[in-house]
Amino acid sequence: MPPQTIAQASCADDYDPNSMPVDKARAFIHQFLEPVSATLQVPIRSALGRVLAEDVTSPVDVPSHRNSAMDGWAMRGADLAADSETTLQEIGASFAGRPFGGPVAPGQCVRIMTGGVVPVGADTVVMQERATANGKAVTFAPGQKAGQNVRHAGEDLKRGSVALPRGRLVRPAELGLIASLGVGEVSVYRPLRVAFFSTGDELKSIGSTLGEGEIYDSNRYTLHGMLTRLGCEVLDMGVVADDPALLERAFRVAAANADVVITSGGVSVGEADFVKALLNKLGEVVFWKVAMKPGRPLAYGRIGSAHFFGLPGNPVSVMATFYQFVRDALLRLMGASPVPPAFTFQVRCTQKLKKAPGRTEFQRGVLSREADGTLCVRPTGEQGSGILKSMSDANCFIILGDAVGNVEPGTMVEVQVLEGIV
Ligand code: AMP
Ligand code: MG
Repeated sequence: MPPQTIAQASCADDYDPNSMPVDKARAFIHQFLEPVSATLQVPIRSALGRVLAEDVTSPVDVPSHRNSAMDGWAMRGADLAADSETTLQEIGASFAGRPFGGPVAPGQCVRIMTGGVVPVGADTVVMQERATANGKAVTFAPGQKAGQNVRHAGEDLKRGSVALPRGRLVRPAELGLIASLGVGEVSVYRPLRVAFFSTGDELKSIGSTLGEGEIYDSNRYTLHGMLTRLGCEVLDMGVVADDPALLERAFRVAAANADVVITSGGVSVGEADFVKALLNKLGEVVFWKVAMKPGRPLAYGRIGSAHFFGLPGNPVSVMATFYQFVRDALLRLMGASPVPPAFTFQVRCTQKLKKAPGRTEFQRGVLSREADGTLCVRPTGEQGSGILKSMSDANCFIILGDAVGNVEPGTMVEVQVLEGIV
């Protein structure tokens, strides 16, 4: 259960709806996010992009048998002289999937390949680069250690132990790991259903002709892309005009059919007032001016049992607020724990950046390598909140914190790579 209502929480002492720092807004939203509870059993391929609802325990030892880590020969470690060469008699071979059946006696060795079962009696493998074969007589260099190059059964994972914990987002590595255990099905949380619509009298959908002052709705397409990549089931409700009756109906339908409702537009000064009144009737919503650019106005709350995110209308603001707030929130609701981080790191900026202190800016940047191989970043060019090309040209956000002012060329700046979070 949430610790308190959204209205109560928004009365906290340090809460300023007219200048919410990005971190505060994110933390505020976290306290209301309970993951979905329904789970489903799916074949492992269908688990890609989903979150594990139960620990995956290993039904087997990994590796399942003692095997060689090298191509070489297997023998008794006690047979190898420490300070001089040792010659042993090769009595057979153990290849991956084709074990040598018998035991290895003193004075004997077995040709072995990586992954091959280490035969009974043997406990050590010498790599082939340290050996010379003369027919069946194989001579090993001095300086070998008894027990070397042998992988023991259960060394990576003991039977019955947790291979992957509940809450883990399944990526290609997890698919492979689960398959390596011989597990064919896993329990995952059900996908989130996310309904979204665009608001604005000026918006037209593709296929219609634009009148004067009208524009095509692009936000539904970026939202479709971002949500689909996150593995959400999307319900695209189209464009809704700035009309209280139509908006009310859209909010009701969205909240009744989805876990999360996302809108774009209608939260800025001049438009927010009637949307606010409407949402306060339907649920519990807080409106903020987040101290960030792009993306100043933002609304968050509940409509019925659905979470609501009211994103700004400008196309770049939609993407910036989605990646900084909504992505994290949706992953939590999907059951991800911990949420895979969208890492940031410092890199040298090659150009001057204009920046006003007092807010966090998410400028769009291009990471590349300089001639000497060092990583550097430059802005994409024009940074207007309506210029979607700046997102398309970018491969990272350049994150300039509240305290930062103009940036001179050569300064270290924080970047967040988009690939991986998108
Ligand atoms: P608003 O937040 O509704 O005041 O919108 C801010 C700016 O974003 C205005 O220039 C809108 O025309 C534009 N805008 C709003 N929604 C969309 C949309 N779905 N697609 C493209 N531009 C939009
Ligand atoms: Mg509008």
